[in-house]
Amino acid sequence: MELRTIKIPLVSAFESSIGTEEFKEALIAIVRKDGVTAYGECVAGHGPWYSEETIASANYVICQFLAPLLFKMDIANSQQFLGLSRNVRGNNMAVACVEMALWDLLGKLKEQSISKLIRGEKREVEVGVAVGFQPSVHALVDKIASSLADGYRRIKIKIKPGYDIQPLRAIRERFPNILLQVDANAAYTLNDLHLLKQLDEFNLLLIEQPLAHDDLFNHSKLQKQLSTPICLDESIRSVEIALQAIEIDACRIINIKPGRVRGLECSKQIHDLCMRRKIPVWCGGMLETGIGRAFNVALASLPGFTLPGDTSASRNYFKKDITTPEFELTNNGTLEVPLEPGIGVQVNEKLVDSYTIAKNILTPE
Ligand code: MG
Repeated sequence: MELRTIKIPLVSAFESSIGTEEFKEALIAIVRKDGVTAYGECVAGHGPWYSEETIASANYVICQFLAPLLFKMDIANSQQFLGLSRNVRGNNMAVACVEMALWDLLGKLKEQSISKLIRGEKREVEVGVAVGFQPSVHALVDKIASSLADGYRRIKIKIKPGYDIQPLRAIRERFPNILLQVDANAAYTLNDLHLLKQLDEFNLLLIEQPLAHDDLFNHSKLQKQLSTPICLDESIRSVEIALQAIEIDACRIINIKPGRVRGLECSKQIHDLCMRRKIPVWCGGMLETGIGRAFNVALASLPGFTLPGDTSASRNYFKKDITTPEFELTNNGTLEVPLEPGIGVQVNEKLVDSYTIAKNILTPE
């Protein structure tokens, strides 16, 4: 197994209430077995802004604790790996990185796509685009206009106190009928109730993670006061938490990100739970390279993903992505689900080499 920390230039800096990113740093796991090369991507960021995990912490946890478990297994089995790693608390993004590499390995050994392995049904998935904070309302509206012209059918904007009602009013004036949703990345508290209630007038698909990342209780209080559905992102770290959130009506929609919930198996379990409870789900994005993007698109091929995801085309983010073909928007505003074995896209190892800023080679003792 090899771990690569890579640094890829972004087309333009992406700003959310968490911070501004000009480069995308990612940790890539490369697993080789029986002549097959498989890939996983860790979605942790450079700093602990989205969750407590970072690229450095994930690198450490994989090297010290997860790779030795991987080397104990003689077949590619992500469920067995999840069982072996149950004593590693948290560190979901590190676990997911290895777990997903095992799905890719299994798919390539069995010559089946990830979508087929998890019993995905769709051949293409609807995608929207997430627009970061812009320097002015004018720039925001222009950016949305160009995303709509590109073919995206659903727009998501980031909001924070002081950057919410005014931009939404401008967007709705210009585009009264587009599918629109907002993401607060936990920037509000219940003291902002009067303001959050005003969001109801903008006919939003959902309000994503308005309150603290670890606070289901107050989301439940807030949902009772809003007609717009709350969607939880940061809060949903496991199928158990998803169930609690549904039971107490802390959200009516869930954003599933494999990295946040320990991998593809747990993502599928949350999807299945939400299908039973009639909770729509969609696939969020973490500025993944083509590797992580391939897993997201495969996941979104499951039937419960009824809302457009954030998995936009590669060129939206990167000057040159590390996979070929790059993910491109179809004329229907969708991405095609790769049907080749495993992740279904080729990794350009030369490009990975040129983006690499740190490397670790791990072998069984
Ligand atoms: Mg979010």
